[in-house]
Amino acid sequence: MEITGLFGSLVFDDKTMAERLPDWAYQQFKQCCDNGTSLSLETANVIANAMKNWALEKGVTHFTHWFQPMTGITAEKHESFVSRGTKGLELEFDGKNLIKGEPDASSFPSGGLRATFEARGYTAWDPTSPAFIKDGVLCIPTAFCSYNGDALDKKTPLLRSMQALEKQAVRLLRLLGRDTKHVSASVGAEQEYFLIDSKMYHQRKDLMYCGRTLFGCKPPKGQQLDDHYFGPIKPKVVAFMKELDEELWKLGVFAKTKHNEVAPAQHELAPIFDTVNVASDQNQLIMELMKKIASRHGMTCLLHEKPFNGVNGSGKHNNFSLVADNKYNLFDPGKNPQDSAQFLLILSAMIAAVDKHQDLLRISSASASNDHRLGANEAPPAIVSMFIGEELTGILQAVAEDRSYSKRAKCSVEVGVSVLPTFPMDSTDRNRTSPMAFTNNKFEFRMLGSSFSIAATNIVLNTALAEEFDIISGKLEQSTDQTATIKQIIKETMRDHSKIIFNGNNYSDEWVEEAKRRGLLNLPSTMDCLPLYASDKNIALFTKHKVFTERELHSRQEILIENYVKTLNIEASTMVQMVSRDILPAVTSYLGELSDTVLHLDKCHITNNSLLDTANLLSQLLDMAHQRNDKLQQLIDAASKLGEDLNAGLFYRDNVVPAMQELREVCDKLESITAARCWPFPTYGDLLFSV
Ligand code: ADP
Ligand code: MG
Repeated sequence: MEITGLFGSLVFDDKTMAERLPDWAYQQFKQCCDNGTSLSLETANVIANAMKNWALEKGVTHFTHWFQPMTGITAEKHESFVSRGTKGLELEFDGKNLIKGEPDASSFPSGGLRATFEARGYTAWDPTSPAFIKDGVLCIPTAFCSYNGDALDKKTPLLRSMQALEKQAVRLLRLLGRDTKHVSASVGAEQEYFLIDSKMYHQRKDLMYCGRTLFGCKPPKGQQLDDHYFGPIKPKVVAFMKELDEELWKLGVFAKTKHNEVAPAQHELAPIFDTVNVASDQNQLIMELMKKIASRHGMTCLLHEKPFNGVNGSGKHNNFSLVADNKYNLFDPGKNPQDSAQFLLILSAMIAAVDKHQDLLRISSASASNDHRLGANEAPPAIVSMFIGEELTGILQAVAEDRSYSKRAKCSVEVGVSVLPTFPMDSTDRNRTSPMAFTNNKFEFRMLGSSFSIAATNIVLNTALAEEFDIISGKLEQSTDQTATIKQIIKETMRDHSKIIFNGNNYSDEWVEEAKRRGLLNLPSTMDCLPLYASDKNIALFTKHKVFTERELHSRQEILIENYVKTLNIEASTMVQMVSRDILPAVTSYLGELSDTVLHLDKCHITNNSLLDTANLLSQLLDMAHQRNDKLQQLIDAASKLGEDLNAGLFYRDNVVPAMQELREVCDKLESITAARCWPFPTYGDLLFSV
């Protein structure tokens, strides 16, 4: 089928609703989406009925409230339309089914918000994200809360943060003379991933349990030749990408670009940006479909941030802009003086927001898996900074210092009077090492890991900007001379927050030193940043804008710490098991073979010293592996006694992680001198060049 026929065919989108709903119901629905007005049960019934008929025509038998609990993936419980009526079978799906669901929520992470005996939670329809059909099931995007309204998911706080942002941004724009009704963040999330052969995947317990390799010698060929990035795509991958595109288009996702990434077996997909809650839902769908479709092609999709040591890991770039009334991008410098002043003001707000909340942005990308990427010279360091380019920095400085700006063309920047000089933002002016880079008319946040939901990062950006817009609006409301006040705000921003601007190479050692001098936070590991999550500053920010309650913030902190502990426990335990059950037996039997050969040669009066040396080295390394494996097991036992709190997390980071590293080193040496036919699982070379 051609694209136009495919696109959105599995989505109950605006066009379908306009066609299938009576006009009054459609208008009420639009009002509800645009202005947050409530929907009557009568309208909900009409919408539900239209949705059901549409789904039935497509062979759908079940519906589900589709939500995003704190597990990092999505959740769904399917219910059929089947109902026992007075005359037998009836197909039921009404307004109540649409609006609210009550899943038994006892097994989802709640970070202490809900004791397991209080199993009730509820899901509430998010009408701004359209319903869709997946695997023959009608999926209704929902928010997931506990019975007393505490958020148990990623969508609820994202929606709240969108409201906070809208309120403050509209207030600010109106003060600036713009008749604005709506403002929301638009996000395009670029998604990186690996594809490997499924059979090989199933031969490695580390990939199956942890999503990454815990052992593996570097193969002779990795990414040295730069021959994978944008290279020709292999036929098997082409077939996968084609099916993925088509399935995504059916779901109304504007899948746009696809290419090979830097590491062998690594690829990327980017959709066209959309409103942030829709982009967030769609990114979850993209990840889910990648996995599902890969398996249909005999491959496994790895979304882990660092599946292989020695080649690049995978990230997710969160391209962020602010759009007013679906028309104006507030990060667009514009073409007239009024636009320029507004742009510089919004830019100042962004600079202050990022500088004040470096900790929150870092936390939004923190996990045991992403610790392998950040600061490893393939992704930004764990230090948050912003790139805005020399030109814009110069302009802001000129405004702050009351002087004319004259780098390229001689022009003075008189806020509110002159147009900004056009500054080239083409690819030569891009900084690919910055965690938060301004490109053209958007900020690209590059710290996110490939497996992350984009919700947390955008909750931070929305809320932090809402706070800055609130502060700025407060000043403008008091002001009698708007131009002077704007200038003053820019001046103060540059005075207090320009330390967050860094246009140089974020991968260099000098930057780490320089950032320290500037007093920027450097939080290399997840355990360094999570303790800062529920700080007074952050509680004040989130409660003021009604995005998280204090309880909710604490619960999220608890869940993230628990997750770190559990991830490392699984990884360390998998290592111990692979060493004792796979690696040690395999090497022992190879050593036996070698020893037999040595004895046999000896009988024939042949002495082969290199054979003896290899056998000796194997024997020594085998002993070492035994010892280090025992040590790791002891540390896991000790960690288990600590529970799953911050102390346990610190213990894992400081003791278990180094012990894992030591064990890996000796095992990788063993791999390098053990006969390939004896090694118990596929090697890096096999995996990276398997498709
Ligand atoms: P890159 O060179 O970094 O790949 P692209 O122009 O291809 O840049 O864009 C990457 C992502 O950024 C895409 O998902 C795209 O839709 C998104 N994007 C582009 N413009 C905007 C914008 N104004 N706001 C948000 N996202 C955007
Ligand atoms: Mg990019």
